[in-house]
Amino acid sequence: MCSQDGNVSIRDVRIRAKFAPLSVTVLCLFILACFSLPSAAQTEFLIGVRAHSGIKRALEMWQPTADYLTEKIPDYKFAVAPFVDFQELRDAVANKEVNFVLTNSAAYVELELRYGVSRLVTLINKRQGNGYTQFGGVIFIRTDRDDIRNVKDLKGKSFMAVDREAFGGWWMQLRELRAHGIDPPRDFTAVRFGDMLQQNVVFAVRDGEVDAGAVRTDKLERMAAEGTIRLSDFRVIQQRKTEGFPFMHSTQLYPEWPFAKAKHTAESVAKQVAITLLTLPADSEAARSGQYVGWTVPLNYQPVHELMKELRVGPYENYGRVRLATVLRQYWHWLTLATVCFMVVAFMVLHMRVLNKRLRVAEKKLRDSNQALKNIASMDGLTGIPNRRKLDEYLKYEWRRARRYQRPISVILIDIDYFKAYNDTYGHLAGDDCLKRVAATLKASFRRSRDITARFGGEEFMVVLPDTDLEENLKLAERLRGEVEAMQIEHRSSAVADYVTISIGAATRVPDQHSRADSIIAEADQALYLAKANGRNRVEGPPARA
Ligand code: GH3
Ligand code: MG
Ligand code: MG
Repeated sequence: MCSQDGNVSIRDVRIRAKFAPLSVTVLCLFILACFSLPSAAQTEFLIGVRAHSGIKRALEMWQPTADYLTEKIPDYKFAVAPFVDFQELRDAVANKEVNFVLTNSAAYVELELRYGVSRLVTLINKRQGNGYTQFGGVIFIRTDRDDIRNVKDLKGKSFMAVDREAFGGWWMQLRELRAHGIDPPRDFTAVRFGDMLQQNVVFAVRDGEVDAGAVRTDKLERMAAEGTIRLSDFRVIQQRKTEGFPFMHSTQLYPEWPFAKAKHTAESVAKQVAITLLTLPADSEAARSGQYVGWTVPLNYQPVHELMKELRVGPYENYGRVRLATVLRQYWHWLTLATVCFMVVAFMVLHMRVLNKRLRVAEKKLRDSNQALKNIASMDGLTGIPNRRKLDEYLKYEWRRARRYQRPISVILIDIDYFKAYNDTYGHLAGDDCLKRVAATLKASFRRSRDITARFGGEEFMVVLPDTDLEENLKLAERLRGEVEAMQIEHRSSAVADYVTISIGAATRVPDQHSRADSIIAEADQALYLAKANGRNRVEGPPARA
């Protein structure tokens, strides 16, 4: 509306006159807006900055960049919040107290992992007049140390770095040392850390206080340029070449500081910040104060992640290590389920064992009962010796055996003389008692394991003697007769003696194919008959011998 030289033309005046009421309205609205919406223009965004060299220095370096953003993005105001301690910066991010973060790459990676901070742009740092988006680590010694040629030679030497937590001043070099099998502090005679000043490391190496040292890239070159040291006094170990990077370096290069947004910061604001920083000119006050050239698209910070993983530092402190608490926290429901399953299975197993044991006990009881039943079935209730059933069974068994091996088998059939009279004289109970005593004597008389004495029936008994010939049989029978006689059980009504006597019929056979076990019993019975007929209290054998 104004002409180039600043003079107002006739036409301009006319237009102004015409729009005068409108201009007043707009002005009024603007003033109103300024009072009613003061926050819109003053919405302040804080940039959390890591202040390595103190708060004052951080503000000097970075406030101009914040001012530049305020100037270029009129709706918002940007300010720097310096943090000397990384822990405090981390808390500020966690508590959403800052909207943006400007810190070194390692710290950024931690904030990214923990709080979802994301990079907008990467710093083009100014080093010796030129811009670089990457930097690295230097491992160096004194030039006159001929004994140290490569990284491996550092074993058993002393070493110095700026700080235990320094990214470019220690972690980068530590990763390199580890890659070559050197594990500080184990493999060093000493590891020293300086008081946050890299130049102290350089001096310590120069003065021979330590064998080797670590600093970030361009430190040596800068000190040489300042005249503090002579570059020729130092030798860089395992020097690498990287295209477009002129400074001496022993490690791979890592991205420079990122400018990042906190998770809660709106994308629209972040976008404007990114655009503004990307177009920030190198000759601006912001770049000059910050000692940088500008900002570029965000670099890949993956190598930083990898380094921290390898060294197990920062958020990767427990990387790859399985911690009990973590496992418990992560798999507690599975563990609970497994425990419950285990307990159920264990209970079932135990229960089954108990049941099995009970079953075994029951089985044994059953077996015992069966055996007892069998015994009862095969034993004579009065005398306690095998009964007729058992006798028959056993005799058949031994009979077959004798037939198989063609061995003699003998039986002795015993009958108490005048036993009816005994009962009549002394009573049935006394008779029973007499039977028991005779049975006991008979039983005691035969001790060979295969001999068996059984109750044949009534007052008759039978002894089976396997592997016994007739001669032996008659001898044993005679002995038996004598033993009963020797018992001297009173028997008043006997016609042969004053005491109880027995008559015996003995038989011996070697079984042939056709004869049955009964036949030997019949033979013994005949002999017994003979013994009775011949006067009782005597033994008779087969008729041929009689
Ligand atoms: P012998 O000399 O000819 O053998 O005469 P005996 O009286 O012994 O013969 P007999 O066959 O006439 O009588 C056998 C008796 O044995 C009859 C019976 O009362 C008795 N007796 C059989 N079994 C038992 C028993 O279990 N207990 C008792 N007390 N007596 C029995
Ligand atoms: Mg009889
Ligand atoms: Mg009799």
